[in-house]
Amino acid sequence: MQDVADLAVIGGGAAGLACAAAACRAGLDVVVLERTDRCGNKLAVTGGGKGNFTHAESPRAMAGRFDCDPRLIMPLLRKFPYQNIIQFFSSLGIEARIDGDGCVWPRGTDASGIRDALLREIATSGGSVKTGSRVTGLEPGWRIRMADGSTAARNVCLATGGASYPRTGSTGDGLALCRSLGLKTVDWFPALASLKTKDDLSELAGVTQPRVDMTLLVAGDEPRVADGHFIFAHAHVSGSSVLNLCGYAARGLAAGKTVVLRVNWVPDRRASDLADEFAAGRTKHPKKQLGTFLGAFVARRLAVRLCAMAGVPAERILAELTRAEQESIVRQLASTEFLIVGTEPMDRATVTGGGVSLDEVDLKTMRARRFPGLYFAGEVLDVWAETGGYNLHFAWATGIMAAESVAAGLGHDPNRPEQFGHVPASA
Ligand SMILES: Cc1cc2nc3c(=O)[nH]c(=O)nc-3n(C[C@H](O)[C@H](O)[C@H](O)COP(=O)(O)OP(=O)(O)OC[C@H]3O[C@@H](n4cnc5c(N)ncnc54)[C@H](O)[C@@H]3O)c2cc1C
Repeated sequence: MQDVADLAVIGGGAAGLACAAAACRAGLDVVVLERTDRCGNKLAVTGGGKGNFTHAESPRAMAGRFDCDPRLIMPLLRKFPYQNIIQFFSSLGIEARIDGDGCVWPRGTDASGIRDALLREIATSGGSVKTGSRVTGLEPGWRIRMADGSTAARNVCLATGGASYPRTGSTGDGLALCRSLGLKTVDWFPALASLKTKDDLSELAGVTQPRVDMTLLVAGDEPRVADGHFIFAHAHVSGSSVLNLCGYAARGLAAGKTVVLRVNWVPDRRASDLADEFAAGRTKHPKKQLGTFLGAFVARRLAVRLCAMAGVPAERILAELTRAEQESIVRQLASTEFLIVGTEPMDRATVTGGGVSLDEVDLKTMRARRFPGLYFAGEVLDVWAETGGYNLHFAWATGIMAAESVAAGLGHDPNRPEQFGHVPASA
């Protein structure tokens, strides 16, 4: 008779590997089914290969980074604050380094090192990993169909990820698997991706501004704000500030709404500060050209573009700048508007939105509400977060939570402190 695993984890990415490692530690018989020939392909490229794996922030602050009702996600984040995740990885031999922005990185290793530590843990605690195993069907009970056969498990954790960077294996299979079970799903969309403007900004390609404030205006919706760096790419605008607003823009565009991005290039200056600086500039350097003067605030090429948008020649010398022209320039510096007409394609999005509807899942246990023995973890769920380590945090927390729930359901003690390194949660 065929062995029936306690838990089959479908997808050997960040969430699936964390789930499997935690379940193996709890003494479960675990098999990971991964469609590509290597686990953790996407994990290995996170944070430019350096792996920004969580964020040093309270659960409450972190909840605000996710695109879902904070009340839904708070219990999970309280149970798995960032200290808990750091401790989990420390127990696997990965120590953490926290940078000045609160981003948490592995110390002395990289994102591949995180992947390898998880795989080591699974191997040494008796788990099995089957690569080249693409799951094509699920039957409650659970029978798991693959291209070249089938297997059975008492419990299944679906951790197939989203639909971006398909070469890493994340091709969006999770939606079809869930739909075949009749689960409610939300179509994929690019949640963290660059935005396409109506205006051709290619002459600015390569220009970056280290810190801007931005507001995304979607007709009929609450304005969304973000700050961070801003990059002009060839066909898109990008940077952390833009990525964090992309999901809302994508939703607005899909609904046929007008989407406008308003950028404040000088977030640390009020209009009155700018007026003072113009007055001082006029006195000290009356012959200075406007474009050169603006170079003190923004990159030179951007300064020239802002002059054009304000309808003032960049060559105008400060002594000859009229009050109306100055006001127009100050307005541009504080609120340049770009009409947004699209996003980068899905396959290049850092994170995808959409997935299994949260209505189908108990986020306190990661259990499917309608199917005993079915669990979810990671990006396959209809949740996404800002950049900064939050998406991986979600992958670890949901993966470990699913493992703990399966272990508890099978009568194992999932909360032995030596297993998961739980620490008291702060608010
Ligand atoms: C370039 C880039 C950089 C990023 N940097 C960061 C960062 O620094 N910090 C951060 O927090 N987040 C980052 N992210 C996001 C983060 O990588 C994801 O949110 C995270 O990997 C999601 O984990 P997951 O396990 O849910 O999905 P994935 O990591 O996508 O793993 C899913 C796995 O399931 C497998 N699979 C899919 N379908 C099947 C099937 N039918 N059968 C079997 N296996 C299947 C896939 O091959 C894959 O291995 C980054 C993403 C990208 C693309």
